[in-house]
Amino acid sequence: TGKSLIVSFGEMLIDFVPTESGVSLAEAPGFLKAPGGAPANVAIAITRLGGNAAFVGKLGDDEFGHMLAGILKENGVSADGINFDEGARTALAFVTLRADGEREFMFYRNPSADMLLRPEELNLELIKSAKVFHYGSISLIVEPCRSAHIKAMKAAKEAGALLSYDPNLRLPLWPSAEEAREQILSIWGKAEVIKVSDVELEFLTGRDKIDDAALLLWHPNLKLLLVTLGEHGCRYFTKSFRGSVDAFRVNTVDTTGAGDSFVGALLSKIVDDHSIIEDEARLREVLKFANACGAITTTKKGAIPALPPETEVRALLNK
Ligand code: ADP
Repeated sequence: TGKSLIVSFGEMLIDFVPTESGVSLAEAPGFLKAPGGAPANVAIAITRLGGNAAFVGKLGDDEFGHMLAGILKENGVSADGINFDEGARTALAFVTLRADGEREFMFYRNPSADMLLRPEELNLELIKSAKVFHYGSISLIVEPCRSAHIKAMKAAKEAGALLSYDPNLRLPLWPSAEEAREQILSIWGKAEVIKVSDVELEFLTGRDKIDDAALLLWHPNLKLLLVTLGEHGCRYFTKSFRGSVDAFRVNTVDTTGAGDSFVGALLSKIVDDHSIIEDEARLREVLKFANACGAITTTKKGAIPALPPETEVRALLNK
């Protein structure tokens, strides 16, 4: 297509979700496959809205890896930046929301293919053609993926892309909170657009007041910081203004993928005109659209199946 390209860099994996809800992993009677990984969800969110997106990352040369690449292609996401590792296998996660409301995770990462992307394997041609370069997942703070990520980010930036970051902490996973914080903050400073949830922001700063925390993490390259607040919408910060945009009231059944839907929507609206983020009225319009996308995504089970097409978003906005 002739549309401006958004490259989304990071992990893609399969979440195995219990067939019965509200049970622990050990009690699950069986599991269903739910393809995911935040950067892959973001890429699909964009194409479902009619935009142009490519996923860059590594998969195992196994059944799961080829299944995931197929899902990207079916959804119109370019797979030109995907590599298959000869040895390591595709990342897998077992995820459940227990009856007590706590999420439980178990990961196959030993290491998995997504962490093994090497700098020399990158499709730089593709990366340099991006107008927005989005990144974010745990795999990109681990070598060699960390070096690949830094090289890709540099190439995209030099070619004129806007850099967008979502740390996607999946908080219960981290063995050491201190280490996680250090790693995240070491790559924080290059991003021009950052989206975090209120929970992640508190984790990263130790502050529960959003504005204090946001100020603490502000850096000179940053143009827009977004804090998502679930059913309370989002809060935005730029160098010259800040504010909030309310969420839509919907019938929420599963919040998986809401943040990725929000990010995909935002990026699809600013890709052709980065200056929108400096104009509060236009930015608020875009955030309203992104909140609508996030809200719709919570009304259906799973992440990818719940990402809305533009017509559905328009219907909610015009209600
Ligand atoms: P993350 O998935 O990153 O934790 P959130 O859960 O905050 O992000 O969701 C992202 C966006 O999706 C929110 O800013 C909001 O606009 C929308 N959203 C999430 N949960 C709900 C909800 N229960 N009702 C309405 N909108 C929601």
